[in-house]
Amino acid sequence: MKEAMFYDKQEGKNVRCNLCARRCLILPGKAGFCKVRKNVDGKLYSLVYGKCSSLAIDPIEKKPLFHFAPGTKCLSIATVGCNFRCSFCQNWSISQEYGGIKGEELSPEQIVGIALKNDIPGIAYTYTEPTVFYEYSFETMKLAKKKGLYNVWVSNGYTAPEAIEKMKGLLDAVNVDWKGSPEFYRKMCSVLDFEPVKEALITYKKIGVLIEITNLLIPGKNDSEEDIRPMCRWIKENLGADTPLHFSAFYPQYKEDKIPKTSMEILEKAYKTAKEEGLHYVYIGNVLSDKSSTFCPKCNEKVIDRSGYSASIVHEKCPKCGFCIMIRNLK
Ligand code: SF4
Repeated sequence: MKEAMFYDKQEGKNVRCNLCARRCLILPGKAGFCKVRKNVDGKLYSLVYGKCSSLAIDPIEKKPLFHFAPGTKCLSIATVGCNFRCSFCQNWSISQEYGGIKGEELSPEQIVGIALKNDIPGIAYTYTEPTVFYEYSFETMKLAKKKGLYNVWVSNGYTAPEAIEKMKGLLDAVNVDWKGSPEFYRKMCSVLDFEPVKEALITYKKIGVLIEITNLLIPGKNDSEEDIRPMCRWIKENLGADTPLHFSAFYPQYKEDKIPKTSMEILEKAYKTAKEEGLHYVYIGNVLSDKSSTFCPKCNEKVIDRSGYSASIVHEKCPKCGFCIMIRNLK
């Protein structure tokens, strides 16, 4: 157990966790909503520090991050736990129903050592919500940066702004889920207030983190024009037209195993809407599509060729019209 960051002591040995927007009030002996932060005699502890539940080497395109260090591999880590309760979760066996805290004991030094030994240029904090293993991620990110590695998060965007600001200079890129309307968040994720996701996105932008957004399209739940167009407008107005947006196909799973998979028609329609709204980099993912490649926003020439999770040809400038493509490559 490691003492948690971002909490206040309250009367009667209660504590307030300020790590995510839930800001749980936690009584002695109890854990927060995420189940992995516990009040022990008036002090808050992370129960998952150093307990790695998943470790894999992935292409960065799998996160998905298409505009940061394309073509590189990242060491991906997670612990159990989550601060959301999505009924459609793709990783429910480690985020929701994991049967108690478990994971291989791996220190931040060991994680960074594995990346260096395998010549992997960066670390991704992913699969479950990295906010709930913040302390583990934070210590690993500090060591990784010292060794010249990059750090990326894949997140639901419910991290408190102060916890995001603390990652300035450590976190390079983030992919944040935009799951749907406020009603969708309430019904499908047990999240009462959607506004903190927007606040988190603005905070990431403020501290210079490259942002990409994923919208998993679930048929009949969040795939309407009224869901997609306002999202695209908000992204363009607040984060900029260069913010990549990934429309991802849903497959029936966990508690939503009766909903059909997302059709190509739904994905294409969403893609068209996002382009109409003026977003420069829009993608269709989790399914085979020519729209997983990057096209020049000015002349529509293909500038990054992708198939599956691999990026082969990467142009930082359009070879046809010279337009500068928004991309952060490794130096
Ligand atoms: S990180 Fe966990 S304990 Fe802290 S506020 Fe969020 S859900 Fe509650």
